[in-house]
Amino acid sequence: MKITQYIENATDTLFSIEILPPLKGKSIDSIYNGIDPLMEFKPVFVDVTYHREEYIYRKRTDGGLEKISTRKRPGTVAICAAIMNRYKVEAVPHIICGGFNKEETENALIDLHFLGIENVLALRGDSIKNEPQFNAEPDGNKNALELIQQIINMNNGIYMDQELTNPFPTDFCAGVACYPEKHFEAPNITSDLNFLKRKVDAGAKYAVTQMFFDNSKYFEFVAKCREMGIDIPIIPGLKPLTTKKQLSILPKIFAIDIPEELSNAVEKAADDKAVKQIGIEWAIMQSKELKQAKVPVLHYYTMGQSEATKVIASQVF
Ligand code: FAD
Repeated sequence: MKITQYIENATDTLFSIEILPPLKGKSIDSIYNGIDPLMEFKPVFVDVTYHREEYIYRKRTDGGLEKISTRKRPGTVAICAAIMNRYKVEAVPHIICGGFNKEETENALIDLHFLGIENVLALRGDSIKNEPQFNAEPDGNKNALELIQQIINMNNGIYMDQELTNPFPTDFCAGVACYPEKHFEAPNITSDLNFLKRKVDAGAKYAVTQMFFDNSKYFEFVAKCREMGIDIPIIPGLKPLTTKKQLSILPKIFAIDIPEELSNAVEKAADDKAVKQIGIEWAIMQSKELKQAKVPVLHYYTMGQSEATKVIASQVF
């Protein structure tokens, strides 16, 4: 079923999670171990992230360096199939533009359609590590808007491969990313929102936010979206802080602020065990307020660690 249908049918805020494919070589059990403890809270969907290739340099015997492409967390599609099979919940693969030309994207979407996957999160993806800006493949989608357009074309039976055109329309419900604190490349929030509006006008059915630690940022963002006529469900994404190091890492990676009250408490914490407790309590406070405001879904970035999310969910759902 489509995420939007679950939301329309719901009488209260729903629960969902995002997981990462395990590092190459690890078994599917590491995925199950991260999801099993959360099943009692009935996640309505499980997002599975996609990780593009990275380049590493290996020393050759002649002393020169060899550039090697490697994918550290492969398996998004197979993991989605395994999750649907085991838990009978919607698995939502993240589809990115980076690293794919449009034909490869079309083939991937055909595979997902065969597997019975109805929901996808359409993203541009970040630049490759050590590359200063995002570069699309020569025949690839340059941004999430173009990716959404390709997905909606396929829903209308329009394929790149002319032989498929018309008889085989797909039926994806495509979500997109959004940023209450602005995407780091956008010159200002209005510009970022204009692009979000274009993704919605092109056919995006829901949006999931970047993590945030200050609910007022989410509420202001949603109000601005509504003013601009962006009327799709905007699902808040939350992540509990678990280590002191994250105080500097998260703002740098995700271009977000950590409220003073939270960062002061974390700074004063004796160790990461204490930080985890603070992070959990903060996320419970955020979740309760968002639930009271009747957000459609509370989406948790578990990063493969179910423990903190389990404590939060047990207090909120
Ligand atoms: P876009 O919507 O394409 O926007 C990117 C930037 O370009 C923005 O600044 C926007 O304002 C601007 N822009 C948009 N359209 C245009 C246009 N037509 N012309 C010019 N500028 C434009 N990354 C991964 O690699 N794998 C994942 O699994 C993953 N999951 C994510 C899940 C969520 C919920 C979120 C919020 C992010 C996720 N990301 C993931 C990170 C995401 O790929 C990056 O934030 C990326 O830099 C932007 O992706 P986007 O889809 O928001 O891009």
